[in-house]
Amino acid sequence: MARAAFSGCEQIERSYSARAFFTNIFIFKCRLICGEKHLLESKDTKENAFVNRLAKWFSSSGRDFPWRHEKDHYKILVTEKLLQQTTYGHVMKVYKTFFQKFPDVKNLAKAEVSEIENIIRRLGFQRQRAKQFKEMALTLIETHGSEVPSNKEDLLRLNGVGEYVANAVLCFAFNKDVAILDMNVRRVTGRYFGWKECKDADMVEKLRAMIPRGKAKEFNWAIIDFSALICSRKPKCNICFLSDLCLYYQALTLDQL
Ligand code: SF4
Repeated sequence: MARAAFSGCEQIERSYSARAFFTNIFIFKCRLICGEKHLLESKDTKENAFVNRLAKWFSSSGRDFPWRHEKDHYKILVTEKLLQQTTYGHVMKVYKTFFQKFPDVKNLAKAEVSEIENIIRRLGFQRQRAKQFKEMALTLIETHGSEVPSNKEDLLRLNGVGEYVANAVLCFAFNKDVAILDMNVRRVTGRYFGWKECKDADMVEKLRAMIPRGKAKEFNWAIIDFSALICSRKPKCNICFLSDLCLYYQALTLDQL
């Protein structure tokens, strides 16, 4: 039943896989000549490798940010909104000041839009974001008893909260095994798995199926960091621990023959 929903993705994977198959034969021959041990790996081990190698890499090379230690649902929700359409570096510069000034939802609801705007100016879209923060805080107080809702429907009804922020809050605040998807995660999965043409909902489901139970935070943070540090816009394939199974890298290698 689930397979039917992924038929589009699987077609893309098959077209990549045909190319990858011939590449694998070439690499296999080369490695035999070089005396290296090489194992042609199945789709299952490709997914396992993605999960296990990423987890190992993240445990030693993942980044540390103050919001990754946060337990307060309000602060997690606000941070995910701050992180939209800007860099982690810019958010680091406003993070402390923001929560000193607005430590809880009531303080945020009482603030003038211009006060919020002044603090988040360096993030861009400050007027729009400030208005969204104020309206979001008022809704949380009026509709949810000053609490952040733990279900997606209610989260999506908050001003300025879309799929990404809703899923991030479910994962990082409520420890739900939810995959989060943005353009960086799309880039990584498009290159490694060949999911470029997949619908977002299919990608989220395929990623969710890979999450080790109870480890969604680490899984999502690992992909975010991997997309920033290694599989970035200019990928560092020469130092990548996934290159032997990556469709993009295999195609690149084939093109250079
Ligand atoms: S080999 Fe290159 S393209 Fe493939 S996952 Fe690694 S960095 Fe990304």
